[in-house]
Amino acid sequence: MDLADKEVGRTLNAATAPRADYDPAYDPLLDSTPGQGRDYAPSYWIGTAGEPPGDDGPVTQDMDADVVIIGSGFTGLTTAIFLAQEYGIKATVLEANRTAWGCSTRNGGQAQCASGRLKRSQWISRWGLDTALKMHRECVEGMENFKELIKDIDCDPQPGGHLYVAHRAKVMPALEKEAALLRETFGYNARILDAQTVRNEWVGDHEAHGAMHEPEGIGIHAAKLAFGYLKKARALGVKVHPASPVQGWETRNGQHYLRTPGGVVRARAVGVATGGYTANALNPEFRNRLFPILSNSMVTRPLTAAEIEACNIRTHQVLTDTRVLRNYYRLLPDNRLQIGSRSAISGRDAPQEQYRRSLEDGLARKFPALKGIQIDYSWWGWVDVSHDMMPRIVQPNKNETLYYAMGYGGNGVMYSAQAGRRLAQLIAGKGGELDLPIFQSRLPFPNVREMVTSEAFAPFRRFGQRFLYRWYYLKDEVL
Ligand SMILES: Cc1cc2nc3c(=O)[nH]c(=O)nc-3n(C[C@H](O)[C@H](O)[C@H](O)COP(=O)(O)OP(=O)(O)OC[C@H]3O[C@@H](n4cnc5c(N)ncnc54)[C@H](O)[C@@H]3O)c2cc1C
Repeated sequence: MDLADKEVGRTLNAATAPRADYDPAYDPLLDSTPGQGRDYAPSYWIGTAGEPPGDDGPVTQDMDADVVIIGSGFTGLTTAIFLAQEYGIKATVLEANRTAWGCSTRNGGQAQCASGRLKRSQWISRWGLDTALKMHRECVEGMENFKELIKDIDCDPQPGGHLYVAHRAKVMPALEKEAALLRETFGYNARILDAQTVRNEWVGDHEAHGAMHEPEGIGIHAAKLAFGYLKKARALGVKVHPASPVQGWETRNGQHYLRTPGGVVRARAVGVATGGYTANALNPEFRNRLFPILSNSMVTRPLTAAEIEACNIRTHQVLTDTRVLRNYYRLLPDNRLQIGSRSAISGRDAPQEQYRRSLEDGLARKFPALKGIQIDYSWWGWVDVSHDMMPRIVQPNKNETLYYAMGYGGNGVMYSAQAGRRLAQLIAGKGGELDLPIFQSRLPFPNVREMVTSEAFAPFRRFGQRFLYRWYYLKDEVL
């Protein structure tokens, strides 16, 4: 059934079929949109979630909408859910490819009590204690919001907390200091575990020199969660149109005109939720304000009981290590092991074997018994890293009805739901009490502004990234 031929607005009960193959080399710094109707990345989540739920088919004619959300990942869908649930606003979601095609069906599924990439101690240095405490409360509230939201979504939750594993002995003093700060200043019960305890009672990671255990942390099935959000949104009257990339955007007399291949959508307000897939061409507001980086992930065949024993994996909780270019890993409910880390620098290089090999090597370093194990799934995606490592949920110009939420920097599984709640609040005109820096300023430009604010300089940004990755490698493994 070609859903594009169906009348827009009619309730459709099947997912729109893909119109083009998955493009493994897509690069947001170089391409103008992420495509049109492309198939999903071959992630474990997509391979095991079952059929995607129904959607409303692509846009096929000019139409009027009140609020349009661009992007149908966790952020876009949760924004639409909260707009409908809290404010009675039934949004129209426009998605370039299949529903939740971006990071939301490609991640590690680790919901952590965090927002952005900075630690609590770094929040204090940047903003002072009062703001850091408020930011912590925002994350704790976000975690509660997330738990509430997933209560009736069958997304295989693995609760219990997060183990942050010291990959070298020299990082333990800093970890101990951070844990003490979390307990004493933030009232958040982080515990330090020594190397023996980690290896004997939690996970026989050969690199573990100790760990910090955080009480919050839930592993989820990413695509089941995204599909659950999709069903929830549509049940609330939200319209979701896949294969409808926004390819042009004009604003006249306070109205937005969003050009898609099937027709122009006129909107009173627009919420942008395009994450690491935000192209420079989408709207001048976003030009070079994000620095998308590639992360790759892979999933083994199910481990045998003997292999689990050999690796002494005694937890299904979510695990990350202390590398700057961190490894995230966990034993999935079906006893496969997932592991992920940084990947290539450009989309063109992403499919190269060396990136998958480097993850396989990382897996074997942690668990020598799994050296050479069959890998059933391997994929990658663009993470929305901001230039100051913190997200923004803002209305950049008070005179314009344009809003956005992005920049979670690899910590968006949980926080995207809270960001969706905050974005809905802003769009509904109820954002008055949002007084954290992440709600009050735009995504910042990078420091060396002249070098990077034009696409012509994209190679220089990437040159800088190569240099940074080399430095992080030295810091993580050598110095
Ligand atoms: C490999 C990997 C592992 C990760 N692991 C974790 C983890 O364990 N824990 C964690 O917290 N976070 C993790 N993340 C990050 C997390 O997945 C993201 O923060 C989160 O999914 C962001 O959701 P989003 O809705 O903002 O963006 P996305 O899910 O990326 O959705 C953006 C959507 O916008 C659409 N779009 C873009 N441009 C247009 C346009 N012009 N018109 C219409 N639609 C458009 C895209 O097609 C895309 O579907 C990981 C990311 C990756 C890639």
